[in-house]
Amino acid sequence: MYLSNYHSHCTFCDGRSYPEDFVKFAISKGVKSYGFTSHAPLPFETFWTMKHDDVNEYFQEITRLKEKYGDRIELYCGLETDYLNEEHHAGIDYFANLPYDYLISSIHYISHPVTGELMGIDGPYSEFEEAVNRVFRGSIEDVIRSFLVQSMKMVKTGGFHIVGHVDKIYMNGGKFPGFYDHQALIDELMDKLLLEIQKKNLILEINTKSLLSQQMTFPNQRYFNRILELNIPVTINCDSHYPHHVLQGKAEAVGLLKSLGLTHTMELKKGAWEVHKL
Ligand SMILES: [Zn+2]
Ligand SMILES: [Zn+2]
Repeated sequence: MYLSNYHSHCTFCDGRSYPEDFVKFAISKGVKSYGFTSHAPLPFETFWTMKHDDVNEYFQEITRLKEKYGDRIELYCGLETDYLNEEHHAGIDYFANLPYDYLISSIHYISHPVTGELMGIDGPYSEFEEAVNRVFRGSIEDVIRSFLVQSMKMVKTGGFHIVGHVDKIYMNGGKFPGFYDHQALIDELMDKLLLEIQKKNLILEINTKSLLSQQMTFPNQRYFNRILELNIPVTINCDSHYPHHVLQGKAEAVGLLKSLGLTHTMELKKGAWEVHKL
């Protein structure tokens, strides 16, 4: 197994430790390639995204660490960007002018198709439930549709390398009454989304953040066979917010995928994405 992780947070966003702590821990575990992806700034302030004013310092700090630890680990500086709407996504000029090594694009907010009002999908369940009832008048079906339609727009718009936690709606949505009544709809829209990811030749991350704690991966394991059938390039990411989580769930996910027939992952080596045979 090639020890790597290309999705991680630190004190520049909502990660719980300094970037150097993650690097030291990763080295101690034998990680070969490690990428930071702090949450990129949004058009409005949040507690979990980087501040615009900190972006230069973020790149400077990761560059310093690359120089300091470069003989022991390959370090990369990316960002986790959000597809919010046509005005804010990975492809806008703001990101094009930054010196990143790669970009992840994810969805943490969906907007109501008529009112345009935003709701977070990734916070505590109590906030999710309140927002479904307030913004979407209790319709979990409309939430599912909005999430997957917005995901499709994100993939079609492009401007990034890795699709982040593609079906994260399962996390909170799955706890909302009636969510699984729409399984056929979710599967239909997910299949269209996977086909578009294949067409665009994007890397799909297998996000293992909740694998050990909740037996959940994003994408959901029900799509693993289809992902392998479509031969979509995958990378296995831990979405770490704590240094001791830099490899959490990685070995388990690799084992699971190998048993289903996964033969290769995408890895950053010497600055370029390469096919790595398992
Ligand atoms: Zn995320
Ligand atoms: Zn993340």
